[in-house]
Amino acid sequence: MNAQPIHFKPSEGFRARSKAVVDNPFLRQSFRGAMDFLMSKRAAQFPDPEELESLRTLGEHIRQYNLGKLPELLLQLEDRLTKNGIQVHWAETPDEANAIILGICQRIGAKLMVKGKSMVSEEIELNHAAEAAGIGALESDMGEYIVQLAGEKPSHIIMPAIHKTKEEIARLFHEKVPGVTEYTDNVDALIQIGRNVLREKFLEADIGLSGVNFAVAETGTLCLVENEGNGRMCTTAPPVHIAITGIEKVVEKLEHVPPLLSLLTRSATGQNISTYFNMISGPRQPGEKDGPAEVHLVLLDNGRSQAYADEQLRKTLQCIRCGACMNHCPVYTRIGGHAYGTTYPGPIGKIISPHMLGLEATATMATASTLCGACGEVCPVKIPIPELLMRLREESFTAPHANPAMRGQGAGYSPLMSAVWRGWAAVYRSPVLYRGVTWLGSRLGWLMPARQGAWTTVRVPLRPAAKRLRDMLKERG
Ligand code: SF4
Repeated sequence: MNAQPIHFKPSEGFRARSKAVVDNPFLRQSFRGAMDFLMSKRAAQFPDPEELESLRTLGEHIRQYNLGKLPELLLQLEDRLTKNGIQVHWAETPDEANAIILGICQRIGAKLMVKGKSMVSEEIELNHAAEAAGIGALESDMGEYIVQLAGEKPSHIIMPAIHKTKEEIARLFHEKVPGVTEYTDNVDALIQIGRNVLREKFLEADIGLSGVNFAVAETGTLCLVENEGNGRMCTTAPPVHIAITGIEKVVEKLEHVPPLLSLLTRSATGQNISTYFNMISGPRQPGEKDGPAEVHLVLLDNGRSQAYADEQLRKTLQCIRCGACMNHCPVYTRIGGHAYGTTYPGPIGKIISPHMLGLEATATMATASTLCGACGEVCPVKIPIPELLMRLREESFTAPHANPAMRGQGAGYSPLMSAVWRGWAAVYRSPVLYRGVTWLGSRLGWLMPARQGAWTTVRVPLRPAAKRLRDMLKERG
């Protein structure tokens, strides 16, 4: 179960949620520790800066090449998958995607769905929809299982429960997992408890649901990267497998996958390669002993074609969801994922969420950045995140309808603020006006209020100097 409904506006209360985390030294410390760990593991994987740079350039080229051919690759993928026996469905909105998945569940009379890790299923809030339709949806990735037990959203795209301590998880298991009578905070014992619950469910489930990391158009192959083996169980044990992915995950050739996979695992968890790499190219064939009888792929748009339509914003879709930008972001590492309130938090969340939820709902988020550039520097596919953030900031404050490419463009526009900036520009353009205003400011500085909104919550009040620089220079001769 997710804590926040899909129509939630992340901008509302963003400040209050951030403050609550910043005021919690325990949470701050655990985030800092986890992020330092991930950052050092990533750094150890890329000891040679030149090699890293050439790999990043290759990753960027592959992503841009494939995005450049996205419409035709999607058609090729559909054709190839269909020939392989995988049923392809197209969904423009989260509601459509949910209706397709629940339609399949209802057709086969499914009671239980086990889910491998899938951020897209978080994006459409599938668990909510399944619950409303009377179908159980159980997360089988350990981190996702923990946040589901806690009734929360994931706080990181690859480490969903990174905000939870061992003791919190122990208490959660003790209180919520059926059959757990004794409290233990031994990590191995906790993993074993989770494993025991999930093993039964893999066998019981009617549907296995997974995400997709790369969908290969030339072969009709769905690639799935994971570490726990639960993805493999979800895609093989239940009689029906449904995969769901955003439309941008398609690549043309199999040979495009290894460089992206290498960048993904090394940037995400600092692993050379993940424990499991699943390649799914069809349902069970006659004579095969295992595998699902039906395989479906749901291709979701949800604002991606809006991002795609603009050449600069299209770069957002290069993302391979490694999470490195979050780990290196000074804002994310202090406020954590829940403060954002979006499925994708941190730098990637700030540039992708406006397309999914509209700028009305996310206008504040683009401003919550130091623009230090760390996210852009670590991004393995070279997404210019700071540049895109600047663009989104501008879009949310320029006059509405100036650029119809963005949903909710001008959401933070204020005629008063706009007039103030126009006045400021006029003053700075005219030497006479500038002299007059600074002369007045140096004499009337005492009129400035002691509290100046958000500025004075962390800074001293702004007050013009009693003497202008030009006057000081004049005095010096
Ligand atoms: S924007 Fe770049 S660094 Fe961030 S998750 Fe996507 S690929 Fe990784």
